[in-house]
Amino acid sequence: MGAATSEAEPPPEPLQGAESSWVRSWKNLLAGIGGTVARLERSWATRRRLRPPPPHPGEKLPRPGEKAVPEWPLPQFVSLFLPEFPIRPPAGQQQLKILGLVAKGSFGTVLKVLDCRREKVFAVKVVPKVEVLRRDTLKQCKEEVSIQRQISHPFVHCLGDSWQGQRHLFIMCTYCGTGDLYALWASLGHLEETTIRLFAAELALALGYLHDLGIVHRDVKMENILLDERGHLKLTDFGLSRQLGRGQRARTICGTLQYMAPEVLSGGPYSHAADWWSLGVLLFTLAAGQFPVPPERDHLAMLASVNRCSYESPGSVSRKLCLLLSELLCRNPLRRLHHLHHVESHLFFRGVSFDAELLQKQPVELVVAARRAEEAALGPSPAFADFDCDLLPSPSHPCPG
Ligand code: ADP
Ligand code: MG
Repeated sequence: MGAATSEAEPPPEPLQGAESSWVRSWKNLLAGIGGTVARLERSWATRRRLRPPPPHPGEKLPRPGEKAVPEWPLPQFVSLFLPEFPIRPPAGQQQLKILGLVAKGSFGTVLKVLDCRREKVFAVKVVPKVEVLRRDTLKQCKEEVSIQRQISHPFVHCLGDSWQGQRHLFIMCTYCGTGDLYALWASLGHLEETTIRLFAAELALALGYLHDLGIVHRDVKMENILLDERGHLKLTDFGLSRQLGRGQRARTICGTLQYMAPEVLSGGPYSHAADWWSLGVLLFTLAAGQFPVPPERDHLAMLASVNRCSYESPGSVSRKLCLLLSELLCRNPLRRLHHLHHVESHLFFRGVSFDAELLQKQPVELVVAARRAEEAALGPSPAFADFDCDLLPSPSHPCPG
């Protein structure tokens, strides 16, 4: 991380180190792309003993108190995940053919799948149950889908379905082919203020909506913001989210280090204002082309850096945006800008209507153009009608698990 350049920085916490056997086995399985989700689950079932991978210094901080779990098979595994993860996918959803690997996340793997029956493409997050138990995050995993099930908002990515196989949990939602905000920022270096203004308004509406429901997202960052085909945003990944009751505060140190508010880094108590800090870091980075604070090895070192940083925006950033950033990146959560209506009335948004329909009216030209250029570079993609669905599971194995 360094000086402002047009070159993008790497994601805050890339996967590091030697390729684990776990990653290798995923690669082997995915080498046969064109198989089905059911086949994937069966392939895993043939493995005698699945050893959990060692914790890697990747994306998210581990939750405290990780437990060792015994090895497979454990009959109670299935019931442990009920009722949030039904045992069979809903009728008509079994015909899922794997088209590719979207991302290897900190927790699970995201696959692009084709629902052959509906001729529609989805993204499915596949989370190994053994990982959930090893990291002692069963409650959090259930919270992820129960939160996603409640929400419906134009700028929030909503849940399609969730179910479980013998060894995996599956969380499915619509596939966003335009990628995430990180990829856009990485390809452009920084964004123009008109685009930042639009994105900031869309994200503010999303956060306002979630916070009204008591939900604190806790991992607002570029990688968790997807772009739809017209370039508008969808906040996703509720893997660390929590629903807080009125007056309730959280204390878990979690999130992505470079986006974490000082009150989160110091172990709380904290509340929804933490998401507004993360939004400040995100907008700063979009505008400046670099993160305000370089990554550190752990939350204590990060806290020290955050406390030292002056959060001064580069000269290229307008006065109104500087003001917004300084109000979001205020270390005291009580004095921080932490309500949608504060944002709506901010100088930076003068003339902007905080109406989702109006904001979405025009496509975001910058994103659409970037997507067109990428498609042109890749060449024509095959139509769905061309996909061969012969690899569907046999009637005796109608669905994953
Ligand atoms: P994790 O908990 O592993 O971070 P995410 O839900 O954030 O899981 O997914 C990891 C990555 O996969 C995201 O950063 C995004 O790039 C990609 N991704 C996730 N969901 C979708 C989707 N619906 N469409 C396209 N890409 C997606
Ligand atoms: Mg994520």
